[in-house]
Amino acid sequence: MIQTRIINIDKKDIDIEQLMYGAEILKNGGTVIFPTETVYGLGANALDEKAVKKIFEAKGRPSDNPLIIHIAKAEDINDLITDLPQKSKELIDKFWPGPLTLIFKKSSIVPKIVTGGLDTVAIRIPAHPIARLLIELAEVPVAAPSANLSGKPSPTKGQHVIDDLKGRVDAIICGGDTTVGVESTVLDITSDIPMILRPGGVTKEELEKVVGRVDVDPALQKSEGIEIVPKSPGMKYTHYSPNADVILISGKLNDVINNIKKIRANKENEGYKVGIMATDETKDKYEGGTIISVGSRSKLESVAANLFKTLREFDKKNVDIILSETFEEKGLGQAIMNRLIKAAGYNVLRV
Ligand code: AMP
Ligand code: MG
Repeated sequence: MIQTRIINIDKKDIDIEQLMYGAEILKNGGTVIFPTETVYGLGANALDEKAVKKIFEAKGRPSDNPLIIHIAKAEDINDLITDLPQKSKELIDKFWPGPLTLIFKKSSIVPKIVTGGLDTVAIRIPAHPIARLLIELAEVPVAAPSANLSGKPSPTKGQHVIDDLKGRVDAIICGGDTTVGVESTVLDITSDIPMILRPGGVTKEELEKVVGRVDVDPALQKSEGIEIVPKSPGMKYTHYSPNADVILISGKLNDVINNIKKIRANKENEGYKVGIMATDETKDKYEGGTIISVGSRSKLESVAANLFKTLREFDKKNVDIILSETFEEKGLGQAIMNRLIKAAGYNVLRV
């Protein structure tokens, strides 16, 4: 166990002295958890191999799952990459700071431990004021995956991070709830047509407005029984899983609701405690039991923001099975469904 210092910072009134404490830890090869606009990140100096190793150890993350490097200003990218394609300039202008991670050819100063042995590197500038100022004060690029135990839902509240990683990192900066709630979009721009390796906070539609055609890694369309190796190594692992088993029910909304009711009755008869992940529009259709709305169907931003928190809430209520509604895979719905499908281990019932 490591002594973990908990630092509370208000993002609207940042106490620089407190933040400096975290920056010093990063400079000295330690680990610091901090809020970003997507989810909380577990950071270390990206150029210090020993420091980066601590990230993998704290999370229990497989060593071939590469990390995203977070920087404070666009010019900080120059030392980390070998070339800056024209399309990436347009994307950087439009989406940084923000939830878009770009994949570049890496320069020699980026240690292989950061990239899981690949010769490409993932980089973004976070839009959260605490994250950006912390990185600026640390004066080093910061490698930071989501600050959860490997395999668990990503953390969107300081308390999630404390639950998962207190005693495993040097400091935790609590700075309120994250706003986007799902991780960044990972976009490979090393080939002619940009390819989404992980859907996230910036949608395919938004990217296409800036750079034209954007493809999606075919591995993301994987359904049961078909194995395609994803281009983004992290996408192959179990991810986002609460303790409970998650079953997704997909189809016309009325059929979904009726099937969820039936399955719940059956499972309860078998002795399981069942939770239902509903939406604002549907929650009153289910009666009794553990029903949590994940947000409004007409405002997918709210669903993204609440998704991981809601999965963790079901665990707090000790349910055995979570029956969840599904969303159309359009706009933010792509990222939401990607996380839900992985949380469910591809357990999707089509009705
Ligand atoms: P996390 O930081 O936990 O949100 O995960 C980072 C994601 O970015 C994982 O899915 C990684 O596989 C992906 N990633 C990071 N670096 C690369 C890279 N060089 N090439 C492809 N995917 C990457
Ligand atoms: Mg993660």
